[in-house]
Amino acid sequence: MILPWHKNAFTKLKQMIDQNHLPHALLITGMPQIGKFELMQQLVQTLLCQDQSCGQCALCRAIAKDNPKEALDISVLIRRSHYPNMVYCRTEINDRGIESKNIRIDQVRSFCEALNKTADDLQIGVLFYADQMNVSAANSLLKTLEEPRDNTLIILLAHNPKNLPATILSRCQSVHIAPAYDQQTQSWLEHHISEIQNADFDVPQLLENTHGVPFKVLSELSGDGFIHYQNWQNKLLDIAIHPAMINQVQDFEGNEVEVLNCLQNLVIEGIRLKSLGYEGGLVELNQVIKIVKTDFLFRLLDDIYHAISLSKTNVNIKLLLDNVLIVWSHISHLQRYPQITRT
Ligand SMILES: [Zn+2]
Repeated sequence: MILPWHKNAFTKLKQMIDQNHLPHALLITGMPQIGKFELMQQLVQTLLCQDQSCGQCALCRAIAKDNPKEALDISVLIRRSHYPNMVYCRTEINDRGIESKNIRIDQVRSFCEALNKTADDLQIGVLFYADQMNVSAANSLLKTLEEPRDNTLIILLAHNPKNLPATILSRCQSVHIAPAYDQQTQSWLEHHISEIQNADFDVPQLLENTHGVPFKVLSELSGDGFIHYQNWQNKLLDIAIHPAMINQVQDFEGNEVEVLNCLQNLVIEGIRLKSLGYEGGLVELNQVIKIVKTDFLFRLLDDIYHAISLSKTNVNIKLLLDNVLIVWSHISHLQRYPQITRT
């Protein structure tokens, strides 16, 4: 199954396969969690399966079983796929689940050796994330890329090609997975959200919040983070409706930046609803913004941005949040917008 936001990238790969122009080295790029590993799996299945990725045969199932988080085979520092002619190279994860920062040269050497064995069948090597290779590892890989063997395909996955040496980039054909906001991606997301959360969500807004990365929306909605977020959002709306509730937000303490982010999303959503004259989304939010001057929402948004950016300095973030919350709690009956985060 091709993910809807992978369509353009996959079409490019499919053309390479169909025209027999698949290079020796491919680079798949895109933001974290955009699904580079999944696109690679789709590509390999299409390339090797007799029915071009039927999803049912032993080969398709073996490749689908591979999981990017599986531990390395410590003795060889790489990992073999469930499909025997494929190897993976990635950073090590220790017993405590901590991931090393770099892919090292001995790993890349082992990876290239595994690919260099003589065989009739195509040998595939997948290295992720290529932007985590240290300099010597990258140089070692370059040697293999410069003298490609006929029967090998090296697939590099990388978040940011800018972190790769130009010498490696020039040896690879790249395919980029772009962020997605389109209708098909939204429908896919709606369906998958309904499997984990029983609530109404503004899917386009969720995609905006994650900069167009659908898997990121799902992981954010499935963790503890989401429950906290819901709690903060409810409290923030309560405050705007009943200002006295401002004294009951002790659990904001220690989470000031997250609360500011949550309020920022509420205000952005408020501005959007107001400008579209659209009454959808959260009932309480509609109730609040109906009587607020749009100009005040923009000024509050500006103050929230400013507070968030100051949070990286040694400013008293609790005080800043308190000031923002006082304005937010009175937002619907403010006569004049006060000065809060700037001096
Ligand atoms: Zn198949």
